[in-house]
Amino acid sequence: GAKRRSCPQRTFEIDISDGRWFLANETLLPGGWLWHVFTDITMLKSNERVLQLARDAAQLAADTDPLTGLLNRRAAMERLEAEMQNAFRDGTELSLVLIDLDHFKSINDRYGHARGDAVLCHFAAAGRRQLRGGDVFARIGGEEFLLLMPGAGIAAATNAIDRLRGHIARAENRAGLGCVYTMSAGIAQFCGTPAADFFERADRALYRAKHLGRDRIEQAD
Ligand code: GH3
Ligand code: MG
Ligand code: MG
Repeated sequence: GAKRRSCPQRTFEIDISDGRWFLANETLLPGGWLWHVFTDITMLKSNERVLQLARDAAQLAADTDPLTGLLNRRAAMERLEAEMQNAFRDGTELSLVLIDLDHFKSINDRYGHARGDAVLCHFAAAGRRQLRGGDVFARIGGEEFLLLMPGAGIAAATNAIDRLRGHIARAENRAGLGCVYTMSAGIAQFCGTPAADFFERADRALYRAKHLGRDRIEQAD
């Protein structure tokens, strides 16, 4: 036992050109002999890969809203916390935009639920097109969306959202949709307070946009 264990040995994985994987165990025996044991672990390796792909797919599904393909509410809240930490640590700007489509109940009532769904997808696509790589865009409720803009102060965020509002207002961008819709938005800039407060400031601004007549963007103080 003890003597055998004292023989110098090493274990390593080898992949050969035909795609097979081997676990190699190499033992240096007394007298200078090398004793090799190879175990074919190709199946284990491919199971590992399949499991990793399945885990990735499950995570993606858990984070995604199935109708629009955007991040869902749960994932958005995680990203909100993470981006707030980044902004706090680096001293960078961060804006939070809450968007609610206007009179959405009447769109459903007039054109049917399927058209309502098409409008949600149209808006998701329009938003995606407007955004930059680091932006986070999520559907957090029925016709409610959240946009996080790292590096953007309130003026830059307002400009971006106004471009989005202009985009959906233009008839040529609504080809095939068959109905008109508008959005209201509330924007807040991160000021170091907890997520609940940050969210509430944007929400209050959105509420104001609704009360002032909808189809507009309001900034939090
Ligand atoms: P406001 O301008 O004040 O936001 O009015 P609104 O009608 O948009 O607001 P309200 O909250 O009264 O209605 C939201 C509607 O959104 C009600 C619901 O039927 C609809 N809705 C929520 N989720 C979905 C969805 O996944 N698909 C469709 N087609 N409609 C949805
Ligand atoms: Mg709503
Ligand atoms: Mg609404």
